[in-house]
Amino acid sequence: MASYKTHDRVTIYSAIPLAPLCYWAANSYSPMLWGHPLTTTPLATTLLVVGAYLFSGLWLSNDLDIDSRIYRRWGPLRWLWYPYQKWVSHRSWLSHGFAIGPLGRMVYLYGMIELTLLVTHQLLLRVGGSTEAIEAGLSLTAQVWPYVTANPHMSVPVAVGLVLGGLSHSLVDFA
Ligand SMILES: [Zn+2]
Repeated sequence: MASYKTHDRVTIYSAIPLAPLCYWAANSYSPMLWGHPLTTTPLATTLLVVGAYLFSGLWLSNDLDIDSRIYRRWGPLRWLWYPYQKWVSHRSWLSHGFAIGPLGRMVYLYGMIELTLLVTHQLLLRVGGSTEAIEAGLSLTAQVWPYVTANPHMSVPVAVGLVLGGLSHSLVDFA
């Protein structure tokens, strides 16, 4: 099993050639889906893909399925990943599978944040506390999915970066 240090190094070093490759691809092709562009300017597309790739490899790593350095990297927020670590068996298709791994973790993270906000909201209502901040958080999370679907030129490059980050992890693990 590759150590977190190996995975970190592979993620960072592979991001270096990924950047010009991505720039070239975004500059040469303008993919469309149902009349919507899937990229923005070459520079912005590169930043989105490479940023998501680094985030995917360093924080949203496939090894969140185990009590790993990555899990502890989330610091005071690591409990968000505790159920994931318990439910998903290490190196299963759910955590290490192509696309389902990183995209599944984004959906999971979103679900955990939403659930935390809803539970906190209920608790505050019971004790008569101020719910303003939680309601602001809830209206923010409610806008995420509409934003993702309405802006494929932003969300698709991010998704590509996330998927590539998970893929490079799995390639190292199963090489
Ligand atoms: Zn792994």
